[in-house]
Amino acid sequence: MQKRTPSPPVNPSPDKPSDFRPSLINLGWLLVWLLIMMFTVTRMPQRPKEVPYSEFLTQVESGEVATVEVSEHQIAYTLKTSAEQTADEAPAAPETSITTPLPADPDLSRILRNHDVEITALPTNGGNWFGGIWGLLFPLLMLWILWGAFANRMQEGPAALNVGKSKARIYAQGSSQVTFDDVAGVDEAKEELQEIVGFLKDSKKYTRLGAKIPKGVLLVGPPGTGKTLLARAIAGEANVPFFSISASEFIEMFVGVGASRVRDLFDQAKKQAPCIVFIDELDALGKSRTANNPFASNDEREQTLNQLLAEMDGFEPNAGVILLAATNRPEVLDPALLRAGRFDRRVVVDRPDKKGREAILEVHAKSVHLADDVTLSKLAARTPGFAGADLANLINEAALLAARKNREAVTMADFNEAIERLLTGLEKKSRILSDLEKRTVAYHEVGHAIIGTLMPGSGKVEKISIVPRGVAALGYTLQLPEDDRFLMMEDEIRGRLMTLLGGRAAEELIFDRVSTGASDDIQKATDLAERCITLYGMSKILGPVAIERPQAQFLEGLSQPRRPISPHLSETIDREIKELIDQAYQRALELLVRNQDVLERMAQQLLETETLEGDTLKTLLLEIQPSTGLQSWLNPGHQRLQALSNNSRGDRQYETPYQLRPS
Ligand code: ADP
Ligand code: MG
Ligand code: ZN
Repeated sequence: MQKRTPSPPVNPSPDKPSDFRPSLINLGWLLVWLLIMMFTVTRMPQRPKEVPYSEFLTQVESGEVATVEVSEHQIAYTLKTSAEQTADEAPAAPETSITTPLPADPDLSRILRNHDVEITALPTNGGNWFGGIWGLLFPLLMLWILWGAFANRMQEGPAALNVGKSKARIYAQGSSQVTFDDVAGVDEAKEELQEIVGFLKDSKKYTRLGAKIPKGVLLVGPPGTGKTLLARAIAGEANVPFFSISASEFIEMFVGVGASRVRDLFDQAKKQAPCIVFIDELDALGKSRTANNPFASNDEREQTLNQLLAEMDGFEPNAGVILLAATNRPEVLDPALLRAGRFDRRVVVDRPDKKGREAILEVHAKSVHLADDVTLSKLAARTPGFAGADLANLINEAALLAARKNREAVTMADFNEAIERLLTGLEKKSRILSDLEKRTVAYHEVGHAIIGTLMPGSGKVEKISIVPRGVAALGYTLQLPEDDRFLMMEDEIRGRLMTLLGGRAAEELIFDRVSTGASDDIQKATDLAERCITLYGMSKILGPVAIERPQAQFLEGLSQPRRPISPHLSETIDREIKELIDQAYQRALELLVRNQDVLERMAQQLLETETLEGDTLKTLLLEIQPSTGLQSWLNPGHQRLQALSNNSRGDRQYETPYQLRPS
């Protein structure tokens, strides 16, 4: 894997004295300091005079003592102020002295009473001792904390003392080492961004005709596809100053800090125009203000966002500042951010296709030693769905595996193992399964494999293993799709449902007793069935009605919010999901019954060898037969069309086994 670290950020502007603005926060620190100093000074006890016990007794007996404070080991006392002193205009405060009494002097209290001394006893020593320590420690502790805080800030450089300053790293002209050559497989995005670099290099060419240079460009796409990398490449190519900051760095505990950081960032940027300002993970800041929880309003984020909007409007279109931002959740962004004149250009950085993956692998393979048997195009074919970051990771994993085996170069076998690792986690040979468990896992996996082999568009089954892997998988079936897919057909979805449920079906067929091992399959199948009905409009009864709003285009696995629907519709949806799952399960069972002898043989073999792959697997899989009626179940759309052409009136008529509305 290639690692290029950006050269150390250049400190933007050395603090000029005129720049110093005493902010509220600085005043706050000062106040805390003062309080602590006062506290320390007042807690500092004035050292009282230490007097011998005998002298103390003499003073008591001669009637000079006014009050005593008796604690376990000490007596503190004050003398009566003399008559002539009281006559003075300023009576001095009575001076305290201390003395150490004999342990438990029995006569003491009598003597004191006889001489009219005011007696106070202090509570037992424990509390007092603790209080004393605390009084001493507290200021020390505070000092230590403050010192720590300041020392840290000082290390970051004097600018960091000003909380409201922007934390943007600044890459001076040409200081980023990443170039467009390091980014592969996202050619369209690269082209668009190159154009933007062109704007900055030669703005006259565009402004001459009255065109306005775009102000904001938003990079959107799934995680790990190279958005941040692209931005850094621009920094390297554009030959203008490049300010880079992550949106979360604006937000602090104190309301108002973020806004002032935004202001500061733009002040600096405008001074250094032409330049590029890059805000990474923009969704951290730009979440729609009305969205989600109305109770959890976030003043700081809102203020910061407002400041950003204001700043974006505040500079002229041709001022030479281009704002670049990246996010994988464009849906949640505040609409105000996306309107014309702000982030009005969107550049999609999508997962790479096969050619793209090959190009990315090439970029990252430059730094590792490849064996002769490695063909990157084959690797690219085996890794559909992998993003750039996954591919970089794959090469690194393979290199690590090769190094562990003391190889001279990274071989295809290392890559294959690395792919398996990335898909299913590490092997866990130490997990010992009982005999019954092993048999259950074997039949379960073969069940997946048999059904997966027959399903349309799901690719070859490459390997079956009952060596435990990862966190939960006790066995797995590796089935890699042959091509990149951008659409999934209905028959493929139904086939996938059957494949997912094939493990459970095999367990039921062979053992007549099912296990918990299928929970993950069931989860996935249910999710898929739900999406079929509520998102893809594949329900006969509901027709093409969307019930969920797609929320996260680029992130999988985020829950989708449902549209407001009637309880009745909700019931119908549930029934449709269940119906689909039930049917898929039934079909899976049928198919396994039809192929039971292959199932038995494969499972036996798997139990012996623990993994099945290569030619052995291929010949076994060749024996599998489809069951009757499978095609028509997989592809109900075909039937629908036939029903339509048979219908003389040409009305669209959906079958309605359930009534949509209570009559
Ligand atoms: P994103 O910001 O889109 O989540 P990154 O830009 O942080 O992804 O990518 C993470 C790493 O993955 C990069 O540093 C790089 O090593 C690798 N990578 C991702 N996409 C590509 C690509 N298109 N070409 C080359 N390397 C890539
Ligand atoms: Mg990123
Ligand atoms: Zn399974």
